[in-house]
Amino acid sequence: MTARRRRRDPPPEPEYTPGQLLDWRDSSHWSDRPLPCRYCGFPAHTRDSRMKPAHKVCAEEALAIQAAEAEAAYRLKGTT
Ligand SMILES: [Zn+2]
Repeated sequence: MTARRRRRDPPPEPEYTPGQLLDWRDSSHWSDRPLPCRYCGFPAHTRDSRMKPAHKVCAEEALAIQAAEAEAAYRLKGTT
């Protein structure tokens, strides 16, 4: 008898919750000098992973938009 693997549905996507995606507790994400946020332009002490000034919530929102756009593009590609 051969073991047959049943295809399982992928686990459901975790719900995106603003403020809970990125972990910027590391001191490398903090600067004493506020610079304009790359997303909203308001002064930010926090730095993203590329050391560019960015608010954590702004970076997370941008990531969420990027993910949604990538998902939409993927779905669009799948139907053609
Ligand atoms: Zn911002």
